[in-house]
Order: sequence, then structure tokens, then C-alpha cells
Amino acid sequence: MAEIDDVKRDVAIANRILSHVGLATGVLVSLGHASFRVPGDPELFVVKGRGYDIDALPLMQPDDMIVCDLEGRKVGGPPNATQCFEVKMHSAVFKNHPEVQSVVHCHPRYATMMSVLQARLVPMCNEGAQLVRKPLPVYPHSKLILTEEDGQGVATALGDSPAALLRGHGAITTGQNLEQSVMNMLHLEEQARMNWYAFCAMGPDHPGIPEADLVEARNQPTIAELDHFVGGPAIRGGAGGGGAWRYFTHLITQELDAGR
Ligand SMILES: [Zn+2]
Repeated sequence: MAEIDDVKRDVAIANRILSHVGLATGVLVSLGHASFRVPGDPELFVVKGRGYDIDALPLMQPDDMIVCDLEGRKVGGPPNATQCFEVKMHSAVFKNHPEVQSVVHCHPRYATMMSVLQARLVPMCNEGAQLVRKPLPVYPHSKLILTEEDGQGVATALGDSPAALLRGHGAITTGQNLEQSVMNMLHLEEQARMNWYAFCAMGPDHPGIPEADLVEARNQPTIAELDHFVGGPAIRGGAGGGGAWRYFTHLITQELDAGR
């Protein structure tokens, strides 16, 4: 049981982080969900549910989390709560993409707006540049994802991309773990916000970071390979860097430990 309890805690923390970073606040505070496959039992996953006394992402507790199978059926969790309404988005992606370990869906404002404007997101800053290097897949419906057919439609639209837009509805991101799927969503929204600024300034044909720059950035040496860092401690680098995720996790862990 210890392992499933650990997964529930990690998933609750990830759901709280979605709100903490602004992806589920205000009118969106109860909308969105992060999920993670149960290690060692890939036919099951843990996700935020529905039906709590106060249904808000920043209040999620580990015991609130729901265990589901790959058909989206609830197989564990508190008796008075159900799986999230759009659970088929998670189950269908897990079913179709065995390599995916974590799924995030929410309604980020800028990404949703840009999907309606049908403005292609182009790399506008380093954070998340690789996500939008190629045109993002778009699921061309704003309806909720309720049926198996709906879920399969999203999974098919996603393909092997780590992110897709749901037109007029929100976005979906995936990852090998909760950090990747949540940070992909945060980076996607950062790119969408920067694209909106550029769209307002210059119109739909505004430039993005040139492809040659992105290639150049990908081919840079690692920090550990640099002469002036040789002999130093191993430090994680990159756009996510692990720092932001660890900071968010630290803050939310403090909340949970304090009984909040
Ligand atoms: Zn939704």
C-alpha cells in the first residue's frame, strides 16, 4: 500500500501545483487534472476526481485521489468522489501511448485563446521552445471529452507530440513523470502568452526564434563539459532545470505537512 499512497501524494501535489503556477485559478480553480500511472501496474493510474466538499485544485489531499483502469473506470478512492469527468482523456492516452507515464489536462487561458484564433504558436523564448518548434496538434472540438470515442480522438490527435491544443477548451500534455507533464503545460502556456504579446504587437505573421538558433542551442555543450566547470559538483541544467519543479514541490509539501 505504501507505493500507491506515495503515488496519490505525488499526484495531489502535482494537481496543487497546477493551481499554484496559475494554470487553474479564478474561474478555472476546479478545472484540470494531473494523472500518473501506478508503477508496476501500468493498467492503473491515479488522477484527481470530482465530488469533493470543496472541489478546488489547491485543496487536493492525497486521500482525495482516484485510482482508475484504462477504461476510465474508478477502481479505488474515497466513496463519495468520482473520477474526473474527462477521465477518458487520460485513459485513452495511457492506452494508446504505453510510453506515457503522466498526463495533464487543464484550461490555460492563453493557449486556449490562441487555439481559437488558430494562430500557430512559434518559439518566442527559450522556455518551452522545443514544444512549439513544430506545429502543435489541435483537437478541433471544444466539447468536453466524455466518451471513449472522444478520448480516442484526443489520443490520436496528440500522436507522439508531448502537447496538443483542444480548440476553445484547453490543452493536454504528457511526460515520463509528473514533473515533465506539468512543466510541459507550464512551458506551453508561457509560449502561448509570449505569442499573444507578439500577435498583438505585429499581427499573426510575427516572427519567432529562427530554427537555426534552436539547432544551435540544442548543440551547445553541457555545463559539465565546460573547462571552467570541470571538477565542480554535478548540477542539473536546462530550461526546466529541476529548480522550478523542486521549488513548487517544496512549497506544496510544506502546506500538506502543515495540514492545509
Ligand atoms: Zn477540460
